Amino acid sequence: MIPYGRQDITQADIDSVVEVLKSDFITQGPAVTRFEQAIADYCSVNYGVAVNSATSALHIACLALGLGTGDWLWTSPNTFVASANCGLYCGAQVDFVDIDPQTYNMSVDHLRDKLETAELEGRLPKIVVPVHFAGQSCDMKSIRALADRYGFKIIEDASHAIGGRYLDKAIGGCHYSDITVFSFHPVKIITTAEGGLAVTNDELLAKTMQYFRSHGITRDAEFMESASDGSWYYQQIELGFNYRITDIQAALGYSQLQRLDSYIEQRHQIRLRYDQLLSDLSLVLPWQYPDSYSALHLYPIQIKPEAKINRKQAFESLREKGVGVNVHYIPVHTQPYYQRFGFKPEDFPNALEYYQRTISLPMFSALKEDEQSVVVKSLREILL
Ligand SMILES: *Cc1c(COP(=O)(O)O)cnc(C)c1O
Repeated sequence: MIPYGRQDITQADIDSVVEVLKSDFITQGPAVTRFEQAIADYCSVNYGVAVNSATSALHIACLALGLGTGDWLWTSPNTFVASANCGLYCGAQVDFVDIDPQTYNMSVDHLRDKLETAELEGRLPKIVVPVHFAGQSCDMKSIRALADRYGFKIIEDASHAIGGRYLDKAIGGCHYSDITVFSFHPVKIITTAEGGLAVTNDELLAKTMQYFRSHGITRDAEFMESASDGSWYYQQIELGFNYRITDIQAALGYSQLQRLDSYIEQRHQIRLRYDQLLSDLSLVLPWQYPDSYSALHLYPIQIKPEAKINRKQAFESLREKGVGVNVHYIPVHTQPYYQRFGFKPEDFPNALEYYQRTISLPMFSALKEDEQSVVVKSLREILL
């Protein structure tokens, strides 16, 4: 089966990991700091805080921004559940903003309308989490303007988007947001097996995320509530977690980062080939926003209503032919857990309609040309 996504591990990656295993520190040593600094440099941002997953990064990002009971967090329904769950972890309530049918990202028009209503009803969100779906940036300039007007904070969920660019700047520079979060799960652009990282330009947010990552404990005198007893001393000032990443993982991430730009170029070559070879079929191919250079985590197609088979039939046929397609995403508000909050599937019709037609084709930097040809041939056979 050709998977929809897969990691690429080289001998250099293996050597970096082995080096850490033979060193003094396998966790909380120098490799984590080196990785954080390298990602921050790549994104031209001041601070990086590495953790054991993007889910953890989203959680401590929300905590650092003060999200709590009585607050609202809004995100896109077309995302992985983690983008919404982080709000619930903090005791806040979660709501969604429907997607734009062309980019599949959070629609700025829907966001604007919903903010107008929420202001009248006195339930404006404290945090909005735009998700850069498939690696393509949201319209961050417009979302920033709305944040300035309505006073909410922005966490970019860039789990799909490391290596991508928006208005000629690396995603993760936090030019339009408070915090940006990356995922290093093996299906994502670069991997640490499990891992995530939050970047920010704000020193206080970075330090706050650092203590939430490690039990709410600080060794920094400026955060202590009384004088230090001595150089061994620490204080727990908040209820934090153990969300630390290991040096073994950070060394893998650092080694992978050296190939990030070539990975993105390879993904674009694969995209161009799909664009050409599938253009005559009854498919909607992923549209590329001119302001954005996508990291191309995914290549989501839609089966058009007039196609001779529907999405489910196409999905099953592709799997039978050894093409490991997937679906991104089942809208979060349709999950049984979210239905308990009273959401109805048709509350966000664009996300629902997109979900009913979409299939993610294999897309990863190590996808070989002959494997891609099998994907194309299989699709042509079932659609023509
Ligand atoms: C993968 C993903 C996450 C969660 O990442 P983990 O590192 O697995 O916790 C969050 N949001 C989006 C959009 C994702 O794709």
